[in-house]
Amino acid sequence: MPGQRWLLPAMLVGIILGAIGGWYFGPQMVSLAWLGQIFLDALKMLIVPLIITSMITGISQLGDIRKVGRTGGTVLIYYFATTGLAVLLGIILVNIIQPGHVGEWAGGEVPEAVRGKEGMGLVVILRSFISPNIVQSMVNMDILPLIIFSLFFGALLTTIEAQKRDTVISFFDGANQAIMKMVHLIMWLAPIGVFSLIGSRLGEAGGGSGFLTEFSRLGRYSLTVIVGLLIHGGIVLPLILYFFAKRNPFHYFIGMARALSTAFSTASSSATLPVTLDCTELNNRVSRRSSLFVLPIGATINMDGTALYESVAAIFIAQATGHHLGFGEQAIIFVTATLAAVGAAGIPQAGLVTMVIVLRAVGLPLEGIGMILAIDWFLDRCRTTVNVWGDAVGAAVVDHLEPTPLPEGSSPPQC
Ligand code: ASP
Repeated sequence: MPGQRWLLPAMLVGIILGAIGGWYFGPQMVSLAWLGQIFLDALKMLIVPLIITSMITGISQLGDIRKVGRTGGTVLIYYFATTGLAVLLGIILVNIIQPGHVGEWAGGEVPEAVRGKEGMGLVVILRSFISPNIVQSMVNMDILPLIIFSLFFGALLTTIEAQKRDTVISFFDGANQAIMKMVHLIMWLAPIGVFSLIGSRLGEAGGGSGFLTEFSRLGRYSLTVIVGLLIHGGIVLPLILYFFAKRNPFHYFIGMARALSTAFSTASSSATLPVTLDCTELNNRVSRRSSLFVLPIGATINMDGTALYESVAAIFIAQATGHHLGFGEQAIIFVTATLAAVGAAGIPQAGLVTMVIVLRAVGLPLEGIGMILAIDWFLDRCRTTVNVWGDAVGAAVVDHLEPTPLPEGSSPPQC
């Protein structure tokens, strides 16, 4: 972003200082958590207006409704193919590394975050697509119904009388551009924000020694998730970017670095969405039409990192609790982990809750979630980074595969 070139180095310094502060000062850093909270709240404040204006502008810029359908198909194929690859990778790694076959499981409790969600199933996920009260969804920040509403609204807007259509589209387009300018202002807070978010969370975990204790207790499990995320984010997605979008993965990664640092610091794809949109359009020159269409949906349903983690965690729990999983059960895990990732909201530790679906599908104890809880805050940050990276790669792929000249009267990308 012109004029904010200092931002990425400043954010990286913020993350490093936050990690050092949290490591050495431990719980004392928690008293600085409010600084990060202000940054997070400022980003969250933009989510609802950004989703609505982005989706409506993005879809209406696709042109006529047939084009919406075609591009939508490409987007869905990308989401499901990459999520499926991530789950498969997780299943292969956890079967090779066998992290759960170390030590005995002493039993445990269903964690607080999951209590009351035991009844969660696929029907609950399907029902969450539609809301009877769209205002209530905005209040509760239920993103999925907002996306569905905006998607239909934007698509059908392309079918009404030209003059009225253009007026409405230009209203939402203008609102969207103004919100993106707000993102630029909020990013001034980012270096302090990420410093505080990382430092205080590490402090909450008991500083460096607390973190190392948590990490070593679940070391093989954590490493399996991290190796999987590195392979998916560092090899699979860059290859897709190179072959299907004809982009240089390294340059594209650097262009996204601000969004990826935000994802790691906030552990929320939704809170990162404003920054993801900004980096994709301005740094990586993905057309506004593609990024506005692909990224808001992606932040909610395309979660490669979460999908990979769900499959590793479920099979780890099976191994640790002495449940043998045959091919059929692992196939069930493949399907349910994909759907559980789709159903997870883009908020911290949402994947932990939707894991109930995977565990119940193959009859594993929900108490197993208690085993992996201690380290989840850290793995959540890692998987959220891959989730956001997967969305950004998707925007480039769709932009390359579905090029559409901008319709007359719509504004070009803001470079
Ligand atoms: N925190 C993740 C995200 O926002 C979701 C999860 O896996 O818990 O993308």
